[in-house]
Formats: sequence, C-alpha cells, structure tokens
Amino acid sequence: MHHRPTPPTAAATPAPRPRVLAGDRPTGPLHLGHYFGTLQNRVRLQHTGVDLFLVIADYQVLTDRDVAERPAEHAENLVLDYLAAGIDPERATVFTHSAVPALNQLLLPFLSLVSVAELSRNPTVKDEIAHSRQAAVSGLMFSYPVHQAADILFCKADLVPVGQDQIPHLELTRTIARRFNDRYRTDLLPQPEPLLSAAPLLLGTDGTKMSKSRGNAVPLGATEDETARLIRAATTDADRHITYDPARRPGVSALVDLAAHCSGRDPHAVAEQIGPGGAARLKATVTEAVNEHLRPLRTRRAELAADRGHLRAVLAAGNRRANAVADATLAEVRAVMGSV
Ligand code: ATP
Ligand code: MG
Repeated sequence: MHHRPTPPTAAATPAPRPRVLAGDRPTGPLHLGHYFGTLQNRVRLQHTGVDLFLVIADYQVLTDRDVAERPAEHAENLVLDYLAAGIDPERATVFTHSAVPALNQLLLPFLSLVSVAELSRNPTVKDEIAHSRQAAVSGLMFSYPVHQAADILFCKADLVPVGQDQIPHLELTRTIARRFNDRYRTDLLPQPEPLLSAAPLLLGTDGTKMSKSRGNAVPLGATEDETARLIRAATTDADRHITYDPARRPGVSALVDLAAHCSGRDPHAVAEQIGPGGAARLKATVTEAVNEHLRPLRTRRAELAADRGHLRAVLAAGNRRANAVADATLAEVRAVMGSV
C-alpha cells in the first residue's frame, strides 16, 4: 500500500501517515445508515492517527435534482454531525467540493480514461436514477463517479470507509488510477481500498436503503420524540410474530437490525425476545435502543449547535488545507501529462 515515492532518506524519516478520504452529500442531516455504515469507521481510523479528509460533496447534489437546496446550511449541519460523532477538527480536514478548484480540474483528465459504456452500466447510478427527482437524467449523474475518483485521488487516499453503494465507484477509482499510471508511465496515483463496516447497507423505515433523500431515515440529530414518531411510522407486515428474516420480511428485519446495531446484540436474539410482542413491542424496543445509543452524541450535538461560527471556521480551515493538497497534486498530474 505504499504509493508515495520513498525519499532517499527513508530510514531517517517517519513513514507518511496513511490517508483516508470519506464524504457525504449536503442533502440533509446524517442518519443511522451513515453512522453504522461509515462514520464510526472514520472516527475509529482518526483515533489510529491517520490523515483524515472529509469531503462535503456539494457539486454532487446536482446529480439528481435541478437545484441544490440550502447547500451552505446543509454543509454546516454535516460539520455539526461530524463533530458530534467524534470527528476532531484539529486532526481532520473537512472541506467542500466547490471551494477546491484544483480538485475539480482533475475531473477532465480522469474522464478521458473511462468509456461511456463503463459509466452507464454502474449499478449504483442506475439505482439513483430510479430514485431521482429530475424529469430527465443529467450528464452529471453519469460522470459523478469520476468526480468521486478526483475526490479520492487528489489527496492520494489509501483507504476509503464507505457503504455498500460506493463499491462500484471505488472500483472505478482504482481503474482510473491504474489507467492514469499506465498511460503516463508513472506511479503517482495510489489504488485506494474500500473499507466496509458491519452494516454496509443499513435499511430505513420502509425496508429499503436508508437515505437522506428517501424519507426513510432516522437522523442522528432527531429528538427522542421525533425518533419515536419516525419508527412508529415504519413499514411492518401482517405477521404478528416477530422474526428476523431479511429476505422475506425486509421491513420487520430492518427494524430488528436497528435495535441490534444500537444495542450491540445479535438480530436473531432481538427478534426472538420480542416474538409474540408484535410490531408495537418491536417499535418500542427500537426507539429505546436508538435513543439510548445516541443520547451522548445528541447532547454533544446540542452544545456544538450553539456556535455556528465555529462550524464555519472548521470548514474554512479545511478548505484551505484541501486547496493546498489539491494544488500540489494537480501540479504533479500536469507535470506527468507534460502540460505546462
Ligand atoms: P442521498 O439520499 O442524498 O444520496 P445518502 O443517505 O445516500 O444521501 P450519501 O451522502 O449519498 O448519503 O452517502 C454518504 C456515505 O454514507 C457513503 O459512503 C455511503 O455509502 C454511506 N451510506 C449512505 N447510506 C447508507 C446506508 N443506508 N447504509 C450504509 N452506508 C450508507
Ligand atoms: Mg447517496
């Protein structure tokens, strides 16, 4: 996993810190899918001392809607969720796409390395088109995975903690890095590895992927009453006896999973204990488990929310550092390509 050139004095210099990149679209507040799918891994990696970059992918919002609604407000709230979850702004670089021009320039050479056929058979893109809010599918919908490759490669990330839906994009990033290195006879770009969690695809209150934009999410920052209301409205089925059977009972099993992840228990044991208690008992159990698990995070979040200026300052500092890193990588890319 060593892609950065080894300096001649390698014996004397400490090994470079591994770099980790992760990100989210500023389309709404972070939810339990983010938390168990990637956010916990980001915090855990941060504690091991990696160089962590978090991209707030504001340009990427335009893939499936015509206008990004209140992007700055959503971006600040993402910073709030990160800090509440344990991201340390002294150690992590939190930045927005739109503030880093050099990163965005990498999109052009990278686009030349992939075919239209490759872009159109991406299964995550197909799923997102199916849930899109646009009348017509935009060009950005097809090219955003290449933009994501720029997000990852601008900082030469070694590791990318993601949910299952990002696996095709990571594979494309690796392909782009490999093709770039082959075409320009260099080892400039690393081939980053994905890092999945124990919950790579957490389901929402309707039994499909929990997503900010699908009305099926339990936000980390929801109040305990809101949480209860969201879970009470969840889809279950006609069978009164609660069992864990993700293939045949997606709604019920999604709720069982939520309780299991929040309480650190096995989903079969959770279902068995509720059994004849039915959907009402299940929902009460889930609500209690979620609220209990998130209570410390929510307390921190409420404290941090009082200082919007701090959230903006974290972003400003992150944008400065991301620009410096992106400028350096773009200069290297241009040199390798023979541009002036
Ligand atoms: P949107 O509906 O706007 O696309 P989203 O909820 O899908 O929002 P993203 O910002 O697209 O969230 O994804 C950010 C990161 O969180 C990605 O790494 C993604 O894989 C991960 N993630 C999102 N939803 C889930 C989920 N339900 N389970 C596990 N990981 C998830
Ligand atoms: Mg998404």
